[in-house]
Amino acid sequence: MDYPNHYGVIVIGGGHAGTEAALASARMGVKTLLLTHNIETLGMMSCNPAIGGIGKSHLVKEIDALGGAMATATDFGGIQFRVLNQRKGPAVRATRAQADRALYRAAIRKILENQANLEIFQQSADDLIVEGETVRGVVTDTGIRFRADTVVLTAGTFLGGLLHVGLKNSRGGRAGDPPSIALADRLRELPFRVDRLKTGTPPRIDAKSVDFTDLQQQWGDKPEPVMSYMGRVEQHPEQVCCWVTHTNEKTHEIIRGGLDRSPMYSGVIEGVGPRYCPSVEDKIHRFADKTSHQIFVEPEGLNTHELYPNGISTSLPFDVQIDLVRSIKGFENAHITRPGYAIEYDYFNPQDLKHSLETKFINGLFFAGQINGTTGYEEAGAQGLLAGLNAARMSLQQEVWYPRRDEAYLGVLVDDLITLGTREPYRMFTSRAEYRLLLREDNADLRLTEKGRELGLVNDERWQAFSAKREGIARETERLGQTWVHPQQDNIEQVNSVLGQPISREYSHLELLRRPNLNYQQVVSLAEAPEVSEQVAEQVEIQVKYAGYIERQQEEIKRLRRYEDTVIPAVFDYSTVEGLSNEVKQKLIDARPASLANASRIPGVTPAAVSLLLVYLKKQG
Ligand code: FAD
Repeated sequence: MDYPNHYGVIVIGGGHAGTEAALASARMGVKTLLLTHNIETLGMMSCNPAIGGIGKSHLVKEIDALGGAMATATDFGGIQFRVLNQRKGPAVRATRAQADRALYRAAIRKILENQANLEIFQQSADDLIVEGETVRGVVTDTGIRFRADTVVLTAGTFLGGLLHVGLKNSRGGRAGDPPSIALADRLRELPFRVDRLKTGTPPRIDAKSVDFTDLQQQWGDKPEPVMSYMGRVEQHPEQVCCWVTHTNEKTHEIIRGGLDRSPMYSGVIEGVGPRYCPSVEDKIHRFADKTSHQIFVEPEGLNTHELYPNGISTSLPFDVQIDLVRSIKGFENAHITRPGYAIEYDYFNPQDLKHSLETKFINGLFFAGQINGTTGYEEAGAQGLLAGLNAARMSLQQEVWYPRRDEAYLGVLVDDLITLGTREPYRMFTSRAEYRLLLREDNADLRLTEKGRELGLVNDERWQAFSAKREGIARETERLGQTWVHPQQDNIEQVNSVLGQPISREYSHLELLRRPNLNYQQVVSLAEAPEVSEQVAEQVEIQVKYAGYIERQQEEIKRLRRYEDTVIPAVFDYSTVEGLSNEVKQKLIDARPASLANASRIPGVTPAAVSLLLVYLKKQG
């Protein structure tokens, strides 16, 4: 049957990409349908119950700055919060939260159910309605036809999903969920380049069977950090402890003994796994000289005894899993509640996408999340938001939008995927961003919230809080520039003792704050000062201290902007550019870069080749 409503956007899949996509589109006022297998699994974390971490928290905060849900759900579901790299510079500082799986899911579901313009429907999408080269809707497994202007596909690990435990395998989207076979087959008929990737998860353990006596405790930070710019510590549920234990030589021996029945090492698994989140058998194989690996023992939630042993993801046979777990300190009598497993799934070459995440071959069809070759909730959520907002803009007949590499990690993520493609699960790192000092987790709102407001993604409450913060930063920075210390002032001895040395001339507080040995609190203690929020104080301090570096990065961006602005036509005959080697031509033909800047980032495309292209395009232009 034809469903009576017509939608601006249909999102397939209620995982991390799908929920952010649906919310973004609906926030923009576009009638949106979220079509997903199971309403109970909206916002479900398939693997590690944690959000954020290095590089990833930057994405979470960017989603938040654009009005998305992930950071808020983390504040309502987080049972341990920490800031990693606290002693390093602000560019690489990262907030990480251990989440209660059920609370996180409940928070996401609540946000979805209360979102205006959004309808949710539980059923499997089995087919796309494609007319000519344009998508027109979706058909479910019971034959309901939903029509829409645009469709966002976020099927995660479900397309052609195959689960492995030892040499046994079975079809599934993740443990306990069915795979998407019909849709995967349909997509393989379309002209997208499809390949296989794999990922894995550790066995879960019953805390009642663990001896914690000799395990190292790990508590969260005090004061507790929050994830959302709108977050408050009072939103956090009870905070809990995690523990640390280690594998040992006996564990490694057990693993080596089981490798002949490992689907990874016997060639049963063909997909490439995540390099930065390897299975324990992979670690033992690759780092053969290491006699021990760390395992973080993390609670799955407040109302469950299940533990997530972070570091022993495995697809070894179950009997080997029991032995390897029980060889670890504290786990001698451990009971496994769920076996570890690996999953292989279809992903699409992201080079077949535009920067808006619309596919190059089917108009109005967008791809986001794990299906684009990424791994991680944060990477998925960020792409979902971008695809959802652009699908909505297309339905409103507006121009697409995406951030540049110097504006957001989201810009880096999408640009990397589209320009370079990926052959292994792609995860975000701060090292992927060349403008790290500009793209900090503390300033995602200053980089993106104004744009989000313009796009219709940011509500009044967030906009007012953001505007007050931005004005507060400007006011306080100006005040510091106009507040002085001078050698003759009454309390000069006290001032000198804070500064660590006597001053010989007048200094503004702004100048003093640039000194590496002084922080904001010390500087404002030198005179009477108005009270400012922690967020304002943090921003003022970072902006003043790093002003020199920040300016240098901004100048470099300006210099490179002409490359960004030099567009390469979608249909472009590289054979007409004289002087390009055949190898470079082939790389350009494969990657089809959208701009000269994209071309310059393709490995093997030399600066000389970029200059040739620049000259050629200018002549044409
Ligand atoms: P998902 O979260 O997978 O959501 C997909 C959604 O789409 C689901 O709700 C599903 O029901 C729905 N769906 C699919 N097909 C259809 C259809 N045809 N019709 C309707 N609904 C559909 N990430 C890491 O960063 N590190 C890890 O170590 C790691 N290990 C993992 C281990 C396993 C076993 C699994 C399964 C995943 C692992 N991940 C890991 C990946 C992480 O779960 C994903 O990166 C993240 O969930 C991707 O989000 P997504 O929204 O793209 O897809």
